Amino acid sequence: MRPPSSNPRRLLVIEDEASLGEMIVSNLATEGFLVSLAGDGEAGLASHATRPADLIILDLMLPGMSGFEVLRALRRRQDKVPVIILTARSASEDRVQGLSLGADDYLPKPFAMLELTARIRAILRRAAPEEESRRIARSGPFKIDYLHLSVHRGRTDLQLSLREFRLLEVLLAHPGRVHGRQDLVNLAWEADAHPTLRTVDKHIQALRRKLADSDENPAIQTLEREGYRWTLPVKS
Ligand code: CA
Repeated sequence: MRPPSSNPRRLLVIEDEASLGEMIVSNLATEGFLVSLAGDGEAGLASHATRPADLIILDLMLPGMSGFEVLRALRRRQDKVPVIILTARSASEDRVQGLSLGADDYLPKPFAMLELTARIRAILRRAAPEEESRRIARSGPFKIDYLHLSVHRGRTDLQLSLREFRLLEVLLAHPGRVHGRQDLVNLAWEADAHPTLRTVDKHIQALRRKLADSDENPAIQTLEREGYRWTLPVKS
């Protein structure tokens, strides 16, 4: 047994075969990880939404949502959490499909626990530096947490809606660049949504209110007829 780390990594196992799931969980817990087990895809996504995992071990053959659907749901919401796929099916199409959907590794069943542990450690090591910088950005008085979709000014959580967060994310991605309203629609709304440009203005106004942004010294600058831009430098 390894000594407990001061900052243990959180793993989520999504596996419907209870005995296998429990075996994986107890082995990984012995290795010093914090491990949760979910018996199906919905439960796994719900668990990850409340307590984000650093890595997900995902069975493909699940009741209800398949492992592929779980993976697709994660990547669709831009969640880049590393995923290791487990499958009893040895077909190489599974491997190709899994990797093309954004899985980080693939392990056919049956596998040795040592093998799984080694792959988990390799992926976490590889993901760590980028992971940290991707999670938090700072700009002016704001701290933006991309993992938890929150924005703080000092200790205050500004309670942005998802849309406001998405708009902020788009503006922050290119500080100083002017984003036309139609660009913002394309980048911050789903492809099948067709908000009016006036709706974009309303969301930006709401975002500015929450940021307590002022016209004298704006973080989000309004350029008449052109659009909006984020004026502060961003450090991640
Ligand atoms: Ca299964």
